Amino acid sequence: MTRVNMVYTPKTEEEVAARVKAIEAILIEKGLMSEAAVNKFAELYENEVGPHLGAKVVARAWTDPEFKKHLLKDATEACKELGVGGLQGEHMIALECTDNVHHVIVCTLCSCYPWPVLGLPPNWYKSMPYRARIIREPRQVLREDFRFEVPDATEVQVWDSNSEIRYWVLPKRPKGTEGMSEDELAKLVTRDSLIGTGPAIAA
Ligand code: FE
Repeated sequence: MTRVNMVYTPKTEEEVAARVKAIEAILIEKGLMSEAAVNKFAELYENEVGPHLGAKVVARAWTDPEFKKHLLKDATEACKELGVGGLQGEHMIALECTDNVHHVIVCTLCSCYPWPVLGLPPNWYKSMPYRARIIREPRQVLREDFRFEVPDATEVQVWDSNSEIRYWVLPKRPKGTEGMSEDELAKLVTRDSLIGTGPAIAA
């Protein structure tokens, strides 16, 4: 039996790549995965699954009050209606930003992230400084690292995702977008606005 002990943390990009290659080789050798399946999986998360899917869900929630209600009650089930779902999104919770409260997500332990609506996390999301600072001084992090000023009157809530529950953010709909179609609205929804480190783009 081959045993993989995950005690060593690779530091450079080359080390990470070498480690991924080694794990992939073991999986293929043991018949747990085929090379084609590995390639297909990597391609899927590189090219097809990404924030555009979360943007589609947000645009629907902005235009359909019934859908929004469903989304806030059970994000996983509501996303399924739009064909959005899968790995690392089995239990998702969408958090609605309003004038009173702004939400931002993190995984303080590692890098848990709602893959079906956002794809793979950016490097800064996985970095120690973000994970450590966003829970202690969210307003400052948003201001200094993301140039995003949350008004004093708006409470900031930080949500710590884990392997079981993945949070994501339903940003405020920008003003002056009343006449816009769902497709046009989706273009205003950025990755950062789904994480809570930025607003949706102003119309
Ligand atoms: Fe994590």
